[in-house]
Amino acid sequence: MERILDGKKFYIGVDCEGAACVVGEPGKGLGQGGQYRFAVQQAAREANAAAQELFELGAETVVIWDNHGNGCNFDYELLDSRVNIALGSGHRGRFPLLDEDYAGVMFIGYHARENTAGAVLAHTYSSAAYQYYKLNGREVGEMEVDAAFAALKEVPVMFCASDYCGIRQAKESFPWVETVVTKKGMSWTSAVSKHPLAVCEEIRETVRRAALRLEEMECYRLPSPLEVEIRYKRMEDASRAILVDWEGKPFALSDAFTRKGIMNSIEGLF
Ligand SMILES: [Zn+2]
Repeated sequence: MERILDGKKFYIGVDCEGAACVVGEPGKGLGQGGQYRFAVQQAAREANAAAQELFELGAETVVIWDNHGNGCNFDYELLDSRVNIALGSGHRGRFPLLDEDYAGVMFIGYHARENTAGAVLAHTYSSAAYQYYKLNGREVGEMEVDAAFAALKEVPVMFCASDYCGIRQAKESFPWVETVVTKKGMSWTSAVSKHPLAVCEEIRETVRRAALRLEEMECYRLPSPLEVEIRYKRMEDASRAILVDWEGKPFALSDAFTRKGIMNSIEGLF
C-alpha cells in the first residue's frame, strides 16, 4: 500500500456512548455498571482500528485520547503499541498537546447533543446538568466544541463514528468529513446496531477514504467574539454557575435557567 500519510501526525478523540452496541441503562446512561466494560472495550477496538489504518498508510504519530468520564477507561495494553495515549482529567482545554504539526483529528464513540430525539445516550457533557450549549445562537455538542479546539491549532476534522443522529449532526457541522454510522437509536437507551467487529472493519475502510481526501478536510472555525448561551436543567445550577466574559464580568442570567455572555474564544469555556 502506498504510504500516503508518510511522517504525518493524527489525533483520535475517543468517547464511549457512540460505539457499536452501546446503549447504557435507562435513567442512568453509561455508568460504571451494566454495559461499561463492553463499552470501553468496543470504543478502544474502534479507535485501534482507525489508528492501525493510519499507521498502515505511513502515519508517524497517532494519539488516542481517552476522554469519556474521568479520562481513564481503556485497557491500554490492548491498544496498538505504536500509539501514544492521552488520558486523565484535571487539565484545561481539549486535545492535550495538540499543535500545528498534526494533519487531522478524528472522533470515535462520540454521540449526539442533548435535545436530540431518537439519539442513543445523547447529552452535552452532562445529561443531568445541561439543556443546551449555544455558540453564536446555534446549538452545539461535544463534537463541535472539540472540532473548534482543533481549529485553534489549524487542525482539520476528517472522520467521525457515531450513531445515526450523531452522524447527521456531524455532517451538518462538518460537511466534508468521512463518517461511519455505528447504530440507529430506538430511544435514549435502545438501538439496532451493526456488529461490533463489522464496525471496526468499516472504520478501517472509511479512515482510508478520509486519508485519500486529506487535502479537502477543513477546520471548524468559530468567529471571535463568541456569544455563549448555556441553559441548565436546574435553576440552582444556573444561579451558581461561574462564567466570566471577555471583560471579566460574570455572565448574565437571561432567565432563571440560562446564562449568556460574550467570550473571545471557546478556550474561555473549558
Ligand atoms: Zn462519554
